[in-house]
Amino acid sequence: MLIGGIQKFSLINYPKKAAAVIFTQGCSFFCHYCHNPELVLKDEFNTPLNIEDIFSFLLTRQGKLDAVVISGGEPTLQKNLIDFIKRVKKLNFLVKLDTNGVNPKIIKDLISQNLIDYIAMDLKAPLDKYPKVTNVDLSSKRIEESIKIIMSSNIDYEFRSTLVKNLHEKEDIEEMAKSIKDAKLYILQEFVPKVTLNPAYSKETAFSDEDMLNMQNKALRHVKKCFIR
Ligand code: SF4
Repeated sequence: MLIGGIQKFSLINYPKKAAAVIFTQGCSFFCHYCHNPELVLKDEFNTPLNIEDIFSFLLTRQGKLDAVVISGGEPTLQKNLIDFIKRVKKLNFLVKLDTNGVNPKIIKDLISQNLIDYIAMDLKAPLDKYPKVTNVDLSSKRIEESIKIIMSSNIDYEFRSTLVKNLHEKEDIEEMAKSIKDAKLYILQEFVPKVTLNPAYSKETAFSDEDMLNMQNKALRHVKKCFIR
């Protein structure tokens, strides 16, 4: 496990739970708007944190925190992810996985072994427009497979999309919502211009509140719940 950082306390990363958040290094995508280039670009990686130090910290948080969120980067690229999560579960924490959906096999293994309690998967774009947002020429089949695995599981989940004016058309939202038809929860995230992986995107403007509301209404034609975050 290459872990680039830890947030020791968060009330916003796991719904209604107090959690620590662990950020893994490395990603399969290079989203223009990514706010964590230090977790994506190898040249910007910090020295990884010591795993035993992380478990020593988690031991002190038993009974004080409910959950551990594994985020990134893209956690499913980590070779020892399953063993790492098994150790976290032995400490009786709930586990949430944040993923871009690139690795359906790992997602399936984690769910079938009861190792995760909540999963949040990014939906980057309509399936045929993924390369435009992620900068990677990847078959959308893996994304579709991850969606199916998550939606047919019994664990809590959300799909979420960061919407950026220069990358998404207002009309895209309906296609994106259709690709997760009947999903329990879809979160639309407003793009906040700040540090971005592609510096040209640090100045991109977000959609207006009115546009976001319109997109939320369109998404609601296809999913059960949709919120703007
Ligand atoms: S925003 Fe894109 S590049 Fe950044 S961590 Fe997420 S999937 Fe990777």
